[in-house]
Parts: sequence; C-alpha cells; structure tokens
Amino acid sequence: MLQLQQVEIAYDESTVIRDVSLEVRPGQVVCLMGRNGVGKTTLVKAIMGLLKLKGGSISYDDEDVTKKAPNYRARKGIGYVPQGREIFPQLSVHENLLLGLEANNTIMKIDEKVYDFFPVIKEMKDRNGGDLSGGQQQQLAIARALVANPRCLLLDEPTEGIQPNIVQDIQDVIREIKETSEDTSILLVEQSFDFAKSVADYFYIVDKGRIVYEGSELVEEEVSKYLSV
Ligand code: ADP
Repeated sequence: MLQLQQVEIAYDESTVIRDVSLEVRPGQVVCLMGRNGVGKTTLVKAIMGLLKLKGGSISYDDEDVTKKAPNYRARKGIGYVPQGREIFPQLSVHENLLLGLEANNTIMKIDEKVYDFFPVIKEMKDRNGGDLSGGQQQQLAIARALVANPRCLLLDEPTEGIQPNIVQDIQDVIREIKETSEDTSILLVEQSFDFAKSVADYFYIVDKGRIVYEGSELVEEEVSKYLSV
C-alpha cells in the first residue's frame, strides 16, 4: 500500500532522514516511534508530499508518488492529521469538517459514521473550532481526515498532551477502523509504549534519522534504548 525506499530528506544542507525504508500494508496499523527530534514528523510530512525528498522514493498503491503534489496524494486516499492538529479556530466545527471533504471529490456530504466515532463533534458542530478543548480539537482533526474516507491515514502524535479519557477514545477509534475496514491502513507516530502496543501490528523505531529497529513485536528493551519509558 505505502512503501518508502531509501528515503533521504534534508532541510537546506542538513540531512535529517537517512536511508529510511518502510512499508505499510493494507489493513495494518504501523507505528513509528522515537525520541523528539529524530525525524518522525519530517517523514510523515514527506509521505504527504509537504517536503521533497533528497533521495529515495515513495510509492502508494503501486504508483511512484515521489514527485506528486500533496493534493494528488490526498485524492488518492492518503489522509493526514498533523501534529498540533492545525484546525481552523475561527471556523465552526462543521466548517472544519467540510474542509476535510475537499480531499475527496467523490464524497459530497459528511458521513454520519464520523459522528459515531466522535459524538462530541456532533454536539459541538456549530461552535468555533477554537472553543474546543485540546482533546476535542484532536478528535476534530481526526474526524476532518476521516470524512474523506482515506485508505491510508497518517496520524502524527494524536495523543500528545491529551487527557487520558480522550486518549482512550482515540485508541477505540483506531481499533474500530482496523476492525471495520479491512484495507484501511494507519501510520501512527506515537511515543507511548502502551498506546502503541495496544493498537499497532508493526513497529519501527527511528533514531537520528534512521530506522534502528523494526518488527511485529514491540520489545520493551529496544524501546527503552531509544525512548525514555
Ligand atoms: P520528530 O518528529 O521526531 O520530533 P522532526 O521531524 O520534527 O522530529 O525533526 C527532525 C529534525 O529536523 C530535528 O533536528 C529538527 O530540529 C529538524 N527540523 C524540523 N523541522 C525543521 C525545519 N522546518 N527546518 C529546519 N530543521 C527542521
């Protein structure tokens, strides 16, 4: 579904991702772990097309999308929930969701399923995005990506700074997506060992811009070597 081959990314002269190859298969939840500053967000932005590669390639659905624009990738089914949520505070919750629909030109209205995932979003439909709590904004950001019915969802630290009951809701939604839609994949950036272990099928640990561990088991010793748990 999504494949990165020997990806290299630099900000000006400074290379932050080196020789990263990874794969997300249909229906899988793949977790990208690692300390702050090792390059996780950089990788996710590059997958969405927001950063150019210095080397290597990205393919999605057997198509080389390395040089394709972000809107092209979105239309092909890659959904993105950025770190920090980036909802529009002056727009209503409903208007924020409508913007999410722009990523898919075949869907004209918001599927009620999205409200089933996050009932609070329906309750607060007419409020401004900026009136929502941090956790609610995170739910809105995920809902905004889901309205376009993505087949590969990129979630960049969805639980960062979020209160435990909302973390639990987000965990339930990831599980439900996994159980109800067989070919929807998720690439999740996550620092919490427990959260990662409870939702993901495959794990990559990144350190200093390289993959230092991968496997279908998340071994605590490996994690503690590269993350403070
Ligand atoms: P992570 O998501 O793992 O916390 P990032 O991908 O945000 O890591 O950052 C990786 C490295 O790239 C860090 O050293 C960071 O300082 C640097 N970096 C991130 N964004 C920029 C930018 N816009 N310009 C220059 N350097 C950046």
